[in-house]
Amino acid sequence: MQVTHLFLDADQTLFDFERAERAAFTAICLELSLPHDGQLYQLYSDINARMWALLEQGGITKTALRRERFRLWLEAAGFSADLEALSDGYTRYLGEMAFLFPGAEEFCRAAARKYPLYLATNGIAAVQRGRLARSPLANVFRKVYVSEDLGCEKPSPDFFLRMLADAGAKAENSLMVGDSLRADISGAQGVGMKACWYNPHSVGAGNAKPDYIVHSYEELYRLLEL
Ligand SMILES: [Mg+2]
Repeated sequence: MQVTHLFLDADQTLFDFERAERAAFTAICLELSLPHDGQLYQLYSDINARMWALLEQGGITKTALRRERFRLWLEAAGFSADLEALSDGYTRYLGEMAFLFPGAEEFCRAAARKYPLYLATNGIAAVQRGRLARSPLANVFRKVYVSEDLGCEKPSPDFFLRMLADAGAKAENSLMVGDSLRADISGAQGVGMKACWYNPHSVGAGNAKPDYIVHSYEELYRLLEL
């Protein structure tokens, strides 16, 4: 495989974002003395998923989403709290939760020895950079691209084009590795990059046609000849 630049997704590829979300939710509830258990988290999580679906359809802005999901949760649970403290506190805690999947650090270090290695992630810049700084991966990447800084999100072609231009990389010689068929795979392929789908739970690919599919970091080592 002719790869000169390697781009990795962060959430659910290297970082256990679901665990971070649960931990941040618990932390802010504790801080504000709000009840929190598995059921209340599930209630929040379902509302959050609905809000993100609405965002994808253009029905809400990201700034509004950050508040609205908690406003709806408070309403559904029958609690009252300072919405700003809840919403801002959650984002602050989320930036502190850096849970890497087992083997992610070793894989990134091995990859960085062979390739110019970049992180390519959607999200809030302060959250993503905060988590990275607290993780063992703080100095592993040559550069970190966060959608908020680039002004567009994966899978938008602009995200990938701006990133490639900044990295001085040619699309056809660049590989994107990520867990999202939409954001990472179709996004990267849309601008002519190669795309490797990280699919640890072996779910179906639907109509997507990733150039490569791996189910573990071990398979990535082999694919990248690390
Ligand atoms: Mg991801």
